[in-house]
This record gives sequence, C-alpha cells and structure tokens, in this order.
Amino acid sequence: MAETENPTPTKPIPTRREFLTMVGAVGGAAAMYQAMGMMGMAHASPYDGPIQLGQAPEGTKVLILGAGIAGMVAAMELRDAGYDVEVLEYRDVAGGRCWTLRAGDTYEELGGFVQTVDFAEGNYFNPGPWRVPYNHYAILDYCRRLEVELEPLIQINNHAYVHSVDAFDGKPVRYREVNADFRGHISDLLSKVTNQGALDEVLSEEDKENLLEGLRTFGALNSDNEYVSGDAASRRRGFDRPPGGGVDATPISSEIMDVSTLLDSGLWSRLATSETLNSSAPIFQPKGGMDMIARAMAENLGDVIRYRKRVTRIRQDEDGVTVTYEDLITGETDVTTTADYCVCTIPFSILSQIDHDFSAPLANVIQDMPYAASIKVGLEFKRRFWEEDEHIYGGTTYTDLPISQISYPSNDYLSKRPGVVLGAYSWGALAYQYSSIPPEERVTRTVEWGSQIHPQMPEEFKAGVSVAWHRVPWTLGCYGLWNDKDDHYEDAVAMDRRIVCAGEHLSYLPAWMEGAVLSSLDAISRLHDTARNQAGE
Ligand SMILES: Cc1cc2nc3c(=O)[nH]c(=O)nc-3n(C[C@H](O)[C@H](O)[C@H](O)COP(=O)(O)OP(=O)(O)OC[C@H]3O[C@@H](n4cnc5c(N)ncnc54)[C@H](O)[C@@H]3O)c2cc1C
Repeated sequence: MAETENPTPTKPIPTRREFLTMVGAVGGAAAMYQAMGMMGMAHASPYDGPIQLGQAPEGTKVLILGAGIAGMVAAMELRDAGYDVEVLEYRDVAGGRCWTLRAGDTYEELGGFVQTVDFAEGNYFNPGPWRVPYNHYAILDYCRRLEVELEPLIQINNHAYVHSVDAFDGKPVRYREVNADFRGHISDLLSKVTNQGALDEVLSEEDKENLLEGLRTFGALNSDNEYVSGDAASRRRGFDRPPGGGVDATPISSEIMDVSTLLDSGLWSRLATSETLNSSAPIFQPKGGMDMIARAMAENLGDVIRYRKRVTRIRQDEDGVTVTYEDLITGETDVTTTADYCVCTIPFSILSQIDHDFSAPLANVIQDMPYAASIKVGLEFKRRFWEEDEHIYGGTTYTDLPISQISYPSNDYLSKRPGVVLGAYSWGALAYQYSSIPPEERVTRTVEWGSQIHPQMPEEFKAGVSVAWHRVPWTLGCYGLWNDKDDHYEDAVAMDRRIVCAGEHLSYLPAWMEGAVLSSLDAISRLHDTARNQAGE
C-alpha cells in the first residue's frame, strides 16, 4: 500500500488509484483499505480451510528441515496424509522465530554474548512474533485446531503517546489529541476547499453536500464546518477537566493545537502505523506467550521432531534425498539420513552457507537473498506505572527516539506484580547501531531513552533482555528481503526435483507466520502431487 502520491490537479476526473489516494489522505490507511476492499482490490489471506492432501503413496518418506512454523505445519499435514515424516531441528526447542523468553531462559547471540532472563516467574517477552491479525486465517485455524488460547492484543491505544524529540519540547502527546486534531484540521480544510469550488470538477453538488456532512462527523466540526476548541473537539481529544460528579463537575474543554504547530510537529506521521491490513484490529496474542502456538504444534508432532541436529549438507538424485547433519547431542558429525522427498524450511540466510546441490535458478535466489535487521528489547518493571500513573492499558507509543516504540502488555491488567514492556523495536540501520553495543548497555540505553517518555523508568526498572535478529545464529535476520522478487519468486518456490523450499521468505506475506503457513501448505501440495505422479498414481 505505497500509494502516497497526490492526484495531479490537471486531471479533472480522478482515477481509481487517485481516488484511493484521496481517501487514504483524508481517512488514513483504514479508510483506504475499506474502499479498496469495496472495489475488490484488497485481499485477505487466501486460506480457505484445512488442506485435503488425500493418501500418501505407500512407504514414502519425507524429511523436513527446520521445526519452525512452516516445518511443523508441513510435518503435521504430511504425517496425517500417511507419509513417514522426520524433522531435523537445530535448536533444542521447536518454533524457530515463534519464540518466547521466560524467567531463567538463557540466549546466546552471534559473537558469544549470553543473556539470562531475570524476569519474575510467569512473565514473558516475545522477541519475535507478537501479534496474530484476525485476517491471518490459516494460522488462526491452526490455533483453533490445536486449542491455543488467544486473547485480544491492543494495538492502537488512544491514551498512549506519540513523541518526537523535536516537538513540544520533547514531551509526549497523547495519541488521541494528535489524532483528533489531525482529523479535525483536515476536515476543516477540505470543507473550505469544497466550498471554494476547488472540487467542482470532481464532485457533483450532491457529492459535495454528502462530503461536507461526512467531514462534520469525521472531524468533529461545528455547524460552520470549522474545527475549533470546545465541547465537540474535547469529546474526541480529551478535556482539561473531564466531566465529573458533584461539586465542580462541569467539564472544561481543552485547546486544540493550531494547524501549523500540528503539521510542524510531524507527529501525525505515526497515526496510520497501525492501520495497515495486517496490523488493524482485531488482533490477538496467545495467552502466556507466542510460543504457545509452537508448543502446541511440537506436542502434536511428538518424537517426529529430532532436536539438536544441525543440517550441513543436502544432496538428491533419482532415488532420493540424503541429508547430512551434525548431532549436537552426541557430538557426532557427518551423520546421514535419507528420504524420498524433502521440505527445506531453513531460512535462506542460513541455507546459503550449507553445502547443497539445488539447481542454478533456486541456488541463485538462496545466495542473493538479504535478510532484514531488527532488534527488540524487553524491559521488566517493578510496577505497572504506565497503568497506575498514566492510565495506559496495552497499545503502543510511537517515538522518533532510537527505540522507535514502546508497547505495553495486553495481559494481566491492574496486576500488582512486575510487568514486561516492549521497550524498543527498531529496524534497519537503527537495529545495527543498537546491536553494536553489548546487551547490558542496550538495556541501559533503552531505559534512558524510554525515560524521556516515562520518567518513572529508571526508578522502576527491574530486568531487561534484547534480541537483535541479525545476530540470532539460527536465522541471521528478521525476515527474507528480495532482490527482484517478481522475476525470481517462481524459481524459488518450484519443486527442485525431490526437494521443495518453504517458509515466510517464500510468500507474499513475509515476516508473518501466516506467510510461513501458506508457503508450507502450497509446498506440500506440490510435493504430494509429485510423489503421487512418480508412484504412478
Ligand atoms: C522481530 C519479529 C517480529 C515478528 N512479528 C510477527 C508478528 O507479530 N506476527 C506474525 O505472524 N509473524 C511475525 N514475525 C514473523 C514470523 O516469526 C515468521 O514469519 C515465522 O515464524 C517464520 O517461520 P518459518 O518456519 O518460515 O521460519 P523459522 O521460524 O525461522 O524456522 C526455521 C527453523 O529452521 C531451523 N534451522 C536453521 N538452521 C538449521 C540447520 N542448519 N539445521 C536444522 N535446522 C535449522 C531454525 O532453528 C528454525 O527452527 C516476526 C518475526 C520477527 C523476527
């Protein structure tokens, strides 16, 4: 959804794209997506129910490399179809990036830094996935089938903040104030240009009346189509003295920001962040940590998964596939296992360092795929000051500090126990800068930066942990980026004789578990067709 250019004024009739751009500018991403949906241009997940593979050819074995979400989905479905399935996983737990850190866990990143999570018992931090959107039908269906309990995750909280070091003397502003004022001023301005005739060539008289009526509601305008300080605006942005009871109960309206101050602050740039297709409400989290999904899949698979096996070599010929691995339990190297077919879900960032004999088009994609850098820092505080002092229950504060955002827990509201906050979630160059300092210092700096928004942080800080994804030894990145995706995608997802690759990187929903599931289901259906054809069925 990168349609940000304005419609050119020389064209009197807006194209569909221009119309959507206008809707997006006025109503934000959510309104634009709604309009796109009505025009049949936006699509949710294409998942339409459990895969029906049918029966496996008798005595056919499939090796699956990697027990992340893609690998485990493939394993469950192929096993259920009657294949003999063996999964090789490098780590001692399943789930891959679907991972949760809890009290007592240790984690060693590339370069040898070891962190031990010193959280209170029962508290957790999701260093990777943390949200399951309502329109990720496939992963939600696995949650339903495996009875993974979900709870709502608050993505947008009107009472959280938007913050810029260069605006309002570096003081955070409530999301609700910026949102209300931005909508109000846009509606006011658009009403003015409508009444001045600037849209006469685009809109009929009836359209203009409807638009003005809509803008009055949308922007909390008065009967003269103006956005002004007063009761209507305060009911959106908040009162200086909220409506009370008894003596001195009359509400006192707040002052709106003037349009130049608001525009100059740049804070409006954060408003649509949570309104994209994959980030809009309702959105969920598994109760107790994201790895509840991985745990449920791993439990379903039992000893089908063989842990602590590091794949080092992949070969195939007309008879089958031979995979060599290092057994990290026994210390044996060059152990081999064979199968008729193989699903490889090892991220290409790792696979590019493994000895394989994939055909050239696939090998080229594996070699060339960069992975995104990102870092998350989890902070535990002695008390939930964001709730107690600032009435923030879940949701996210956005900032231009290097921490980029602070997300508050959507569970255990009002608890008197310590609480865990996502203290930083940064990408790209920022993530590289962040990870260039030792983990302990990353945490200290996160608290320092965060204290510009929440001054209570240093006093209330208890423990912290950071995961820089480009330094995670078993994925070396957050998600697969593509060079020339449109040109090479089909090469990468195709069956390569007896092997097919799968994972989030081989989907058009990268960096989402849904992408991993959809890729996996597609890969195994083609593997199944190949197996049946070769068996003469
Ligand atoms: C910071 C971050 C935030 C995210 N947020 C969300 C979110 O909110 N919602 C969402 O749905 N998704 C989110 N995602 C994306 C989601 O985590 C991934 O898309 C998904 O988990 C990828 O699954 P996968 O099976 O393709 O790969 P992986 O999970 O990476 O699985 C690959 C497996 O291969 C194993 N492996 C690697 N090397 C070897 C080897 N040599 N031998 C054997 N095994 C090996 C790994 O240990 C791993 O278990 C996020 C990811 C990150 C990093």
